[in-house]
Amino acid sequence: IMSQKPSQVLGGKVEVGETQEGVSKGPMIDFHGIDEGLVEKMVYDALVWSSLHGLLVGDKSVQRSGKVPGVGMVHAPFALFPMLFPECHWKQAYELAPIFNELVDRVSLDAKFLQDSLSRTKKVDAFTSRLLDIHSKMLEINKKEDIRLGLHRSDYMLDEETKQLLQIEMNTISASFPGLGCLVSDLHRSLLNHYGESLGLDSKRVPNNPAATKFVEALAKAWSEYNNPRAVILLVVQPEERNMGSHEVAIVYFRVGYAPINYPSESEWRARLLMEQSSAIKCPSISYHLVGTKKIQQELAKPNVLERFLDDKEDIAKLRKCFAGLWSLDDSDIVKKAIESPGLFVMKPQREGGGNNIYGNDVREALTRLQKEGSEADAAYILMQRIFPTASHTFLMREGVCYKDDTISELGVYGAYLRNKDKVILNDQCGYLMRTKISSSDEGGVAAGFAVLDSLYLT
Ligand code: ADP
Ligand code: MG
Ligand code: MG
Repeated sequence: IMSQKPSQVLGGKVEVGETQEGVSKGPMIDFHGIDEGLVEKMVYDALVWSSLHGLLVGDKSVQRSGKVPGVGMVHAPFALFPMLFPECHWKQAYELAPIFNELVDRVSLDAKFLQDSLSRTKKVDAFTSRLLDIHSKMLEINKKEDIRLGLHRSDYMLDEETKQLLQIEMNTISASFPGLGCLVSDLHRSLLNHYGESLGLDSKRVPNNPAATKFVEALAKAWSEYNNPRAVILLVVQPEERNMGSHEVAIVYFRVGYAPINYPSESEWRARLLMEQSSAIKCPSISYHLVGTKKIQQELAKPNVLERFLDDKEDIAKLRKCFAGLWSLDDSDIVKKAIESPGLFVMKPQREGGGNNIYGNDVREALTRLQKEGSEADAAYILMQRIFPTASHTFLMREGVCYKDDTISELGVYGAYLRNKDKVILNDQCGYLMRTKISSSDEGGVAAGFAVLDSLYLT
């Protein structure tokens, strides 16, 4: 899938893009002139490091992989160098994490806002409709969630033209890669400790990434709040592992449950409902899950909506600053614009996990088709301003082979939120995830083969 260009490396030093008024000219390391022998050594060391430190995933080409522990593993796809990223934007993303955590919590408590905002979507999107049904049932029985745990990840891209950090989306369910992502930061620091001097790069500029430990700490704190030393944490990872055992469950953590495919039959929906009805802490609760939909992201971006949920004017201004253009498809002016210039927009359904969005000429086709049909099917989607980050050459490692390609990057910042009734126990950023994808791919996707795990090098 990935371009089959072998690494083309010349001789010399890495040139780091100049910093200008705290904003980098662009996140790029100029690899023209880098020593080929040095890269070969780094590739080798990086592969050994990955094997020794568990920067690994199941290898689909090995039949018993994923069935027998310790069998059939391959290093996770990663970038050989950390991606240059302006420190000011990294700090900005960190600062936003606790504000978004608070916002998700506040919005989750406004059942009417969630039901109203998604009411048109509900008619045409069966999956969202099922989630809303569970939400309605909880309202009927007046279910209270005193202890609320959120393990989120807000994703951003740095828009090249405006130099603004713009939010791509907020993930409130199954936020991926806190484990592997922080290993990549360790790997890059280790490589720069060895080769940094020859490259003119300082390992200290790769920020520490405590994502995995911070998420585990949040789970442990939530478990303590639940206050039953005999209760367990249930990780929902696959349909077959719905076994609730004979133990009381303190926390249900959903590693799946965000996609229709996770509910192949009615029994999965019954299980989800049962979990929601239970006294266990849900991560996420049905309300938190719904707050993470693209439709709610778009509703929150409308004028005067944030003000309904947050009091602090500065916080509101900070959030609004990172909102890209977001529109509902009942806005006929914007639909017209998107048909004229589809390349400037991304069309998104209410789905998670990558591979669901519509880009380029497909946007025009889809919008024209929806207009002709004249149905309410357009309510399944939102339109978003397409963000264009600066592209740079990067070395990408996949299945032991180093490729060089043009890439763009997406920064995710993890956030953990825990409260018990009126007491906020935890509200913090929890490290980052940098994903670098080949710029010719619209969507990216680490698993899909278009993106790799990366870390950042602050400029
Ligand atoms: P998902 O919940 O499936 O991850 P996203 O909204 O994150 O959905 O979209 C998936 C990918 O599509 C992102 O990781 C990013 O690469 C690309 N993408 C999404 N929105 C935009 C946008 N507005 N501009 C540019 N690329 C985007
Ligand atoms: Mg998502
Ligand atoms: Mg995403």
